[in-house]
Amino acid sequence: MTGRPTVELLGVSIDRVTFDAAVERAVRLATARQGSLAVTANAELVWAATRDAELRTILNRADLVVADGAGVVWASRVLGEPLPQRVAGYDLMLGLLAAAAERGYRVYLLGGRPGVALRAAAVARERYAGLRVVGTAHGYFGPEDEPAVRAAIARARPHLLFVGLGAPRQEKWLACNLPALGVGLAMGVGGSLDVLAGVRRRAPDWMIRANLEWLYRLLREPRRIGRQLALPRFALAVLAARRRRRGEDRDH
Ligand code: UDP
Repeated sequence: MTGRPTVELLGVSIDRVTFDAAVERAVRLATARQGSLAVTANAELVWAATRDAELRTILNRADLVVADGAGVVWASRVLGEPLPQRVAGYDLMLGLLAAAAERGYRVYLLGGRPGVALRAAAVARERYAGLRVVGTAHGYFGPEDEPAVRAAIARARPHLLFVGLGAPRQEKWLACNLPALGVGLAMGVGGSLDVLAGVRRRAPDWMIRANLEWLYRLLREPRRIGRQLALPRFALAVLAARRRRRGEDRDH
């Protein structure tokens, strides 16, 4: 529909992009200033979308959906339409912060516990000389605070808005609020602000390379087990989809 090269996984379209192409597209969307949405889709989110029509619609209307997770790349291969590579949300956020510093884009960070976005902004400014972080806000706001949160973002007119409220809440919040915010591109980043701020660690490189980031998270936060049950369910659904596709191919 959009003319973008995509791969369809369990009803969700994922952009067939490399990391560099994702950064390039995101930068273009940020400057177009039309309130675009970028989603980093891991297996958990795609699985959630199979059970939640509202979320599925949000993902399929997003302007950029990257494969944030080894599970999504694996699924694309199983279904015979391989995605070029994993584009981790954290890495994409860093790539965009670097691009923002180079080009003078305004950046806004929303999410995490009080103080986290502020700390993340300080780290980002140190790492990317000249970066313009035009606002930060924590992610523990109630409905009564929403107008103030929205107004502060709208006043700052960021090219890039990174929102770490956890998935899929951040995607739903953005789908609802983006039109009123006047930003260029917004992207849900989950716990990435915590990582940037240094209050949470990402998996060691060898685990990321071995596609074991999910295991690291599970070991550090065992309460995620309920959410991670989505992973085997996602895998089974992908295998079932492959069987169906093969069956259809045989019938034709
Ligand atoms: N968070 C928030 N407001 C809330 C609940 C969560 O800002 O009401 C933040 C939380 O502090 C953390 C992030 O959202 O920084 C969720 O991180 P997680 O790794 O769980 O993200 P997910 O894997 O759900 O994308």
